[in-house]
Amino acid sequence: MTTPRLEVDLAKVGHNARTLVTRLAARGISVTGVTKVALGAPALARCLVEAGVGGLGDSRMANLERIRRARITMPVTLLRSPSPSEVGRVVRGADASCNSELSVVRMLSAAAVGAGRVHGVLAMVELGDLREGMLPGDVPDFVGEVLGLPGCRLVGLGTNLACRSGVVPDEDKMEQLSAIVDETEERFGIHVDVVSGGNSANLDWAASAVDIGRVNDLRVGEAILLGRETLRRQPIDGLHTDAVTVIGEVIESRVKPSAPWGRFAQSAFGEVEIAVDRGPVAQSIVALGRQDVDPDGLTAPAGMTIEAASSDHLVVTSPSTLTVGDEVTFQLDYSALLRAMTSPFVVTRYQQG
Ligand SMILES: *Cc1c(COP(=O)(O)O)cnc(C)c1O
Repeated sequence: MTTPRLEVDLAKVGHNARTLVTRLAARGISVTGVTKVALGAPALARCLVEAGVGGLGDSRMANLERIRRARITMPVTLLRSPSPSEVGRVVRGADASCNSELSVVRMLSAAAVGAGRVHGVLAMVELGDLREGMLPGDVPDFVGEVLGLPGCRLVGLGTNLACRSGVVPDEDKMEQLSAIVDETEERFGIHVDVVSGGNSANLDWAASAVDIGRVNDLRVGEAILLGRETLRRQPIDGLHTDAVTVIGEVIESRVKPSAPWGRFAQSAFGEVEIAVDRGPVAQSIVALGRQDVDPDGLTAPAGMTIEAASSDHLVVTSPSTLTVGDEVTFQLDYSALLRAMTSPFVVTRYQQG
């Protein structure tokens, strides 16, 4: 079979999604299933819908359009603030988008009116991670203007933490978000429907918080696919951590000295190799490199060690020699998965389990 390939076990992904949907529902939180790491693959989107997510989210219009073309009828939200050059595309292809710039919302409004549509605005609030979002003090002006714009509807307020700076979405941050929601409702005499508290990094909080306040939605991608929370990348109880794997093929297998020999300078990626002589080792090359995955995010099968990686070659050692043509299955972290999904050299197989 073709290598390198990603294998996505949809039975395991579905189990992960259903488990999280059920656990969060018990706390009054619905899940927006995030498809961006799989480029909006309809197979994943369908699996998430069957698992009971309340909506789908992706950061790119191309991915949301792929989902729509597959006739998946679920509300879809663009998770990244629209580029001004794509507002027409956004109002046609997404029900809602995350927003923090009034200039963009004004353009969305005009485009929505032109297209005869109503576009949902999820107002994103900055709570300290310093990626997207308006500062809390800017929320009243923002909401006030959105409420008056034709073709736009305020769907809710949201925040995003733990992405740029690793700021933890803890009880304190979530209480701040809830307080902003309460103040907004009071000031404008409205009801804020959606309060989207964050991403996979919020799962610890959602499981342990005494009071989840006003938060009623989380946008979850990584935890569903990889089965881990994202603050410490610990496995989540009851979830599969091997739903997605990448498979490469052995193209050379020899017993070689463990220490290189000759005069030393930089390697292909600027590293200076520190030679440790462990005697002869069973060294194999897997046809998998930095153009396919992020090798630093791979976990080799038990007993096997990843020694080095260049553009196209992954050097591994193992207790006994592998055979040329053997397939080797690796686990991936988010970075390795993202690279593999976006590499033109890696095929993705979605298996129904
Ligand atoms: C990617 C993204 C998510 C999902 O994050 P995961 O860590 O994959 O759960 C949620 N919200 C926004 C704004 C995102 O960009």
